[in-house]
Amino acid sequence: MDTPGSQDDLKALEIAHRNATDYLAGLPHRPPKPRASYADQCEAFDEDLPKSPSPISDVIAELANKAGPGLMGMASPTFFRWVIGGSHPAGVAAEWLTSAWGQNTGNPDATPSAAAAETVVSRWLLEILDLPRESSVGFVTGATMANFVCLAAARHQVLSEAGWDVEAKGLVGSPRIEIIVGEEAHASIQSALRYLGLGNRTATIIPSDDQGSMDTEGLKRALKESPSGPKIVITQAGQINTGAFDPFSEIATLRREHEFWWHVDGAFGLWARANPESKSLAEGIELADSWATDGHKWMQTPYDCGYAIVKHEAAHRRSMSIEASYLPEAEAGIRDPAQYVPELSRRARGFASWAIIKSLGREGISEIVGRHCRLAKRFADMIGQEDGISVLNTVVINQVIVRFGLPEHDVDTKDSLTQETIKAIQDHDVCYLGGSVWKGRWVMRISIVSWRTQEADVDRSAASIIDSWRKVRSVGELEKQ
Ligand SMILES: *Cc1c(COP(=O)(O)O)cnc(C)c1O
Repeated sequence: MDTPGSQDDLKALEIAHRNATDYLAGLPHRPPKPRASYADQCEAFDEDLPKSPSPISDVIAELANKAGPGLMGMASPTFFRWVIGGSHPAGVAAEWLTSAWGQNTGNPDATPSAAAAETVVSRWLLEILDLPRESSVGFVTGATMANFVCLAAARHQVLSEAGWDVEAKGLVGSPRIEIIVGEEAHASIQSALRYLGLGNRTATIIPSDDQGSMDTEGLKRALKESPSGPKIVITQAGQINTGAFDPFSEIATLRREHEFWWHVDGAFGLWARANPESKSLAEGIELADSWATDGHKWMQTPYDCGYAIVKHEAAHRRSMSIEASYLPEAEAGIRDPAQYVPELSRRARGFASWAIIKSLGREGISEIVGRHCRLAKRFADMIGQEDGISVLNTVVINQVIVRFGLPEHDVDTKDSLTQETIKAIQDHDVCYLGGSVWKGRWVMRISIVSWRTQEADVDRSAASIIDSWRKVRSVGELEKQ
């Protein structure tokens, strides 16, 4: 058997390194779509439970070989299917170190470097996003957990103001919390409400306009009609299909007349604030009480990374804090990473975030956001000129939704033509994107989020989309003859 530090260990690490760098170098030149299916890969990985040890270097080489064909090029410059970042090399390299260091980021005493990196990154994030500098930041797995953490802090605060200690007594017998949320909120808000025992069918739903932005009059009415008492209003920066923003300035004004905890789900849209040209889209948002955002979307960290940002540190801590006799207690005034997230043991997420912000700088992050917004408009303009391709949203940031079909096609045909065209584009293997349902109908969605994406990538992808649509259209016309 192998001993620690042996030749086999080192060889395995080298094989991993070589495979990873080869993969990254090839990424821009390969179609994003995997060559193997899930069924293929189950077959590739399937074998009886290994009975005896194997050399690590063989295992890692085999893993790289087996996994390769079934990897989705999510960090590719022509991957547009979901809002997924590009796993920036500064973050990847920092993640290699993080794994090698094996730090359990529970406590500043136990892992001084991991805790310090988080402390500094927290400050940097509040500066980049221009949010209240007194806010506390929890490093979580993504925006789903960030929404959960922020809403847990909200639940604490609004019930505490109503004289109820929810952490001690739970929700049975507590005053009712009125939840108000936009019609086009992300599904993870429903999950967060469920995890928190608030239920995902109890909220007052505010209608949205055709872009998915919350209707101010609707919110005004709901606030007027709702009884006084604990209240949480959940808003959104960056709708997952259209990229739309809720009317934050108006919401900020309403807050002067009504009491509520104001939460913002800004998984990617919050980053509009990192660029001077798009910042005005999220003006007024700084007056909210909490913000959920992702590291692994527009900030390009490798998976997984999200940030729960809460203006009221005491509420944040009270809802998440953990105490145990065997854990050292952080001194007063020292940030303890475990007090802001649900997990005790976890990955040191601060290192990758630190490395990416340090390498890109504020200007680099702003450039990526600005470029993606510009490229989304270019994409929409290029494909929108083609007969039968309709861009359905006002492109405000990095999201474009389109439908395929000529004026003479009825709505149902347009849904099936859209699905057929998506399939044709996927088969064409230049870019990778997919469908979504918007206001009850099928659309194709384009999300530009990878730092690798440049103008030429958009141009060749737009050409592939137009080509694929023409093919689908001509087959349809032939069938009619
Ligand atoms: C992606 C997204 C989420 C969920 O984030 P995860 O990182 O997948 O947990 C929540 N809200 C919005 C608006 C999103 O775009």
